[in-house]
Parts: sequence; structure tokens; C-alpha cells
Amino acid sequence: MKLSMVVPCYNEEENVAAFQAAVIEAFQGCNYSYELIFIDDGSHDGTLQALKKLYRVQACPVSVVSFSRNFGKESGLYAGLEHATGDYISLIDADLQQRPELVRQMVEFLDQNPDYDIVAAYQDKRGDGKVLSFFKQRFYSLINHLSTVKLHPDASDFRTFRRSVAEGILSLPEYHRFSKGIFAWVGYPTHFIPYTACPRAAGATKWSFRKLMRYAIDGIIGFSTAPLRLATYTGLFSAGASLIYLLVVVLQKLIWGINVPGYATIIVLILFLGGMQLFCLGLIGEYVGKIFEQSKDRPVYLAREVLVHGADGKAEGVANASQTQP
Ligand code: UDP
Ligand code: MG
Repeated sequence: MKLSMVVPCYNEEENVAAFQAAVIEAFQGCNYSYELIFIDDGSHDGTLQALKKLYRVQACPVSVVSFSRNFGKESGLYAGLEHATGDYISLIDADLQQRPELVRQMVEFLDQNPDYDIVAAYQDKRGDGKVLSFFKQRFYSLINHLSTVKLHPDASDFRTFRRSVAEGILSLPEYHRFSKGIFAWVGYPTHFIPYTACPRAAGATKWSFRKLMRYAIDGIIGFSTAPLRLATYTGLFSAGASLIYLLVVVLQKLIWGINVPGYATIIVLILFLGGMQLFCLGLIGEYVGKIFEQSKDRPVYLAREVLVHGADGKAEGVANASQTQP
């Protein structure tokens, strides 16, 4: 198999068949084999039935991994990489916002440029509103400032890479998978190409502002310990400042005999320092929470059903429920 396309699907009932049709059209006349690996991420609609239909027909080689519940796109990508058999692996969404024609161009690029291992697409024109783009920009400048890995601001996980890269990604066993950071961490020479995201074919995006915020915080916690240092610096600064103030008060009393009135100062300082302490405790708590989650050593996903096509692209029976350990 030359190319495996990993397609995470969550409530994409109306899109999966159209997606496959678009792939077949885009790859018409290419002289290599390709397969589609669909991940049904615990969808509540008819996505799994639609995928099983594609699997039965095998218009092109199709495998389906069905999760026991919704584990998130990152877990879907992980499962897809585990089941991919291709020399090249592409990650692409099921909603046709990312065009399969571009995947073909990515494959051509990798064929012609052995010096590169990854072709990643970045969005040249983002359709986000002003508020969202402001927060996204702040997020990228913050994480690039705080972390040793450098993220391309507009790069998505729409990309094609060689098998060695997939093995690198799979070797990272973390439970909280922030794929933008993982891609940056594994490295490999990457070529960036621009693309314009098309409107969603059907259905709605699964990202709310709250979910994006949580994702951003997880990304920073997962790839930087700088926030912990913030607590140290704040502590040092307030200790230094209070030492100076202590000297001032003692001198005022001893030399000039001034009684220092301090009710308001004390209340403000107690509240300020109390707030800072709780904030720092919360920061540490975020990291402790992550350690707790990781120490449970739970699998990244549980599969209810795995349907794998044969080497000839024929349906090959139903594998039993399986469990995957990172
Ligand atoms: N997705 C998934 N699990 C989730 C959320 C999303 O597998 O919990 C899939 C979704 O079906 C789609 C891709 O991830 O194929 C991108 O999701 P979406 O289109 O909602 O994100 P956007 O394009 O708006 O960033
Ligand atoms: Mg989308």
C-alpha cells in the first residue's frame, strides 16, 4: 500500500460517502494504491452504518475502526496511525473542508523531494471571526514563547508524511494528545503549503469557544513548564518587595517615630497575596491533574469494532472488540 488516509469522523453521517467519492475522483488515474481508514469516534448519528456500507462495497480499500464512545479527534488520529499500512500517511477531515486533490499533490511532492518527510497544509485565509482570530494569535505567540517546540501558527493537522514519522508519533505514549505540539516535537523536515478551507459539506463544527479554550490550555500545559516558573518568579518578587517595605516601616518607626497606619494596606495585601497563592496552586494543580491522568496509564481509546480490508482491498470479516494500549 502506498498511501493511507486517516479520516476521523464524529457525527459525519451525511459526509462520509461524499468524502469517499471525492477521494476516488481526485485519485483517478494515479498509478499507486491507497486506502481509507475511517475512525468512527462514538458518533450518535448513522455514521457507523454509513461507514459499514462503504466497507461492504469497498469501492476503494476501506477499513473502519469504531470507538466505544467519543474519545476526541486526537485519539481518532492515533488509532488511524496504528492501523495504517501505507508508506505515506495522510490525515484529513471527513467534512470536505480539506480537499483530497491536495493530498495527491502532497504525495507527488514527497515522491519528488526525498529530503522532506512531511508536507503540512496551513490555512492561508482563515474564516474565523475577529475575536477568535485574536485569541488564536495570542495562543500561538504565547505557546511559541513558552515552549521549546515551535508551532506554525496556521498549520492544521491536514498533512501527509512518511511511515517513519507515523512511527515517531506513535512512540509518544501521552494520554493528553495535543497533535500540533506532537508534530512540532517529533520534528522531521517539513514543507508547508497553503490551502483555503472549503465550507463544511454538511453538519456543524464540533468546536465551541469553551472547547477551544480548554484545548489551548491543555496544549500549553502539555508542552511547557514555564507557567510553573511563573509561580517561582512571583514568589521571589513579592518576597523581595515585602523585605524592602519592612525596612521602610522599621526605619520610619525607629528614626522618625511615625506610627504606620496600615489597615487598608494589610487588607489589600492579604487579598492580593491570597489570590496569587490560589492562582499558583491552581497552576500546579493543572500539572498534578495531568500526572494523575497519565499515571492511571489508560489506553488512548477503546475500539468496539475493527473492520480491516484485505490486502486486495476486499472486506475481510469483523474483528472482535479490541483494546489498545499506548
Ligand atoms: N472529529 C472527531 N472527534 C471529535 C470531533 C471531531 O473525530 O470529537 C472529527 C470530525 O468528524 C471532522 C474532524 O474531526 O472530520 C474535524 O472536526 P470539525 O470539522 O468539527 O473541526 P473544524 O474543521 O471546525 O476545525
Ligand atoms: Mg471541519
